[in-house]
Amino acid sequence: MIVRCWGARGSIPVSGVEYRKYGGDTTCLEIRTGQNNEILIVDAGSGTRRLANHMLAEKRYEFSFLFTHVHWDHILGFPFFKPIYLEQARLNIYGCPNLQGDLEKLLARTMDAPYFPVPYEVVRARLEYRHDCSESTIIDGIEISSIPLSHPNMGVGYKFTENGKTFVFLTDNELEHVHRGGRSFDDYVEFARGADLLFHDSEYTPEEYPLRTTWGHSTYTTALDLALAAGVKRFGLFHHNQDRPDAGVDEMVAHCQSIIAERGSNLDCFGVTQETEIRL
Ligand SMILES: [Zn+2]
Ligand SMILES: [Zn+2]
Repeated sequence: MIVRCWGARGSIPVSGVEYRKYGGDTTCLEIRTGQNNEILIVDAGSGTRRLANHMLAEKRYEFSFLFTHVHWDHILGFPFFKPIYLEQARLNIYGCPNLQGDLEKLLARTMDAPYFPVPYEVVRARLEYRHDCSESTIIDGIEISSIPLSHPNMGVGYKFTENGKTFVFLTDNELEHVHRGGRSFDDYVEFARGADLLFHDSEYTPEEYPLRTTWGHSTYTTALDLALAAGVKRFGLFHHNQDRPDAGVDEMVAHCQSIIAERGSNLDCFGVTQETEIRL
C-alpha cells in the first residue's frame, strides 16, 4: 500500500513561510491499495481540497472514506472535495453511528446555512453511508482494525494491513490522560505492536503540556515512548500544533532521534509533512 499525507497540521489550517516544510493543511490521508490501486481516504481536513484536485486530474471517481472523528479540523474540507458535485463520483463512507452520531448528518452540517453557501442537497455524487461498528473489517482489500481514541468527544484509531505490512494511525490521542471511552497507554502499545509505520499525535512539548492537559493531544516524547515500546519500524510525528513553525518540529524530531540513539534502537523518526508519501 501507499500512504500519502495531504495534511498533517492540527486544529486549524495555517499559512506562512514558517510552515513551508510541514505544511498548513489539516488532517487528510490517502491510502492506495497495492492490489487494486483503490483509494481509501482518512479524514477530510483542509488537505482534502488538494487531494480532490489530484483525483480529478487522475480521473478517479470512486473513493472510500473513513473518519477518526468529526472535530472541525478533520471535516472542514468535505465541501471542498470536488467529486461530491459530480454525478459520476461514488463515495462509500464508513462510520459507526454510536460513536459521534449519524455520519451523514454530521457531514451535511458542514454545509449548513448560514455557515456555508451551498447546501448538502446540491451534492450530486452517489454517497453510500455504511454503518459499521465492528472492530475489524476489510475495505478495498485492506484489513482494517480500530481502537477507540483517548480524546474529548471520542474518536477512532486505525490499523491498516495489506500483504503483511501494517500502518497504524493514531491522531488526536492523549496518551497521558484516559478520556471517556479511551484506552490505556499499554492498550495503544499493543495495538501498534510491530507496525511498519506509525503516525501518532505529537502536538505538544513536555513544557507546553501541563497547561493543556485533557485537551486531547499527546506530547511527542510520550508518543515516542509508545513507538519504542511497540517496536514499530517508522514513527511519524503528526498533528503539528498550529503555532509550531518548521524549526520547532525539526527540534522535536532531532530530540526524538537523540533519545532513540541513547536507547540503542534503530527506530526511524520523522515529522510527517503534507507531502509525505510512504510505500509499504
Ligand atoms: Zn485534530
Ligand atoms: Zn480532535
